[in-house]
Amino acid sequence: MIYLDEAATSKPKPEILEAIRPYIEIWWMNPSSNYKIAEEVKNKIEEVRNIVASSIKVEPDEIFFTSGASESNNWVIRGFDDENINCESVIITTPIEHKSILNAVYNTALHSDVQFCKVDNYGFVDLNSLKNFLEFNKDKKILVSICGANNEIGTIQDIVEISKLVHEYGGILHSDMTQSYGHINNIEPKEIGIDLMSVSAQKIGALKGTGFLYKNKNVQIKPLIYGEQEREQRGGTENVIGIIALGEIVKKYIDDDYTKLVKSMSEVISKRRYMIDQLISCFGCKLNGHKIIRLPNNINVTFPQNITAEALIHMLEYSNIYISAGSACNSKSIEPSYVLKVIGLSDEEAMKTVRFTLPDDITYEQINKVIYEISKCIKLIESES
Ligand code: PMP
Repeated sequence: MIYLDEAATSKPKPEILEAIRPYIEIWWMNPSSNYKIAEEVKNKIEEVRNIVASSIKVEPDEIFFTSGASESNNWVIRGFDDENINCESVIITTPIEHKSILNAVYNTALHSDVQFCKVDNYGFVDLNSLKNFLEFNKDKKILVSICGANNEIGTIQDIVEISKLVHEYGGILHSDMTQSYGHINNIEPKEIGIDLMSVSAQKIGALKGTGFLYKNKNVQIKPLIYGEQEREQRGGTENVIGIIALGEIVKKYIDDDYTKLVKSMSEVISKRRYMIDQLISCFGCKLNGHKIIRLPNNINVTFPQNITAEALIHMLEYSNIYISAGSACNSKSIEPSYVLKVIGLSDEEAMKTVRFTLPDDITYEQINKVIYEISKCIKLIESES
């Protein structure tokens, strides 16, 4: 199997099995129970909180476990709006955010204004447009929500510059770092100036249904799910297994000085470069997003041939090769990706666009095999038309 869809989810790493096993067989109790045996579970959760906090160099009480980045994103949008119910407020975001942001601002009854700043053809936020929106709204409470790295085209935003601007106007900056955490180094909110940050565990070899929200202790937002857990900020019995798996992966793969992370990043960047060169030279593909300032494992290309992403995905599946059209979240629909359209692709180009997101351990042989299988698919389609 050649799995090139890491941005949708990553294969859980085998070491988590050993870590979670005792919490299924022995310490399966509710962490909030009062007996001693449950204390072990509670302590383990706090241990993971420390591990996660130190991986991004923040305080443990600034980490709140959630069911993943979708929940964290919804929490930020709703929580900011509820917190500022009695004042004028605005949420400034971009049209290429993940659906968990876009649908939260479109479909929930917010009293805040919502504004979208422009992005250019690489997907970079237009800083002038952001500045204009900040200036226009300077008398309101401001939340800016901008994804650190786009899940479809891989474009990495200049969060440091964005943060400077947002803070100049007294705003709060939220960044969805789901595709960045564990994949690029220096994801340190205090250093880069992020006040709220969403992460999902499933993108780094841990389990689905777990993630966290980093919330700077000086930032106030209301809870999304009321209850008593997570210092009354996020109700619901903790996903103990998911949290333990996350801790195990962070402990093992996100080292303090990023040596391991940087090494695997540079290896995957070389392989990505090779694969992009192959896609361009063999098929004349067009790369979407920026050539260099993109997630290390992300390739997003449009084919000039008369082959749709949908056809290519299903044909490659026969060879046990798994890729994606746009993001997994819209893979069920035949609508062209909104992200691709915003960066200037036509409907037709968007429908002929695929995303490859490479695992760290991909080999050059596997890349060659994928290129070979794609050429077979294209030949077959061309011979039939
Ligand atoms: N934000 C981004 C940028 C993502 O890529 C994803 C996963 N597709 C999410 C949020 C949502 O993550 P989850 O489904 O784990 O909640």
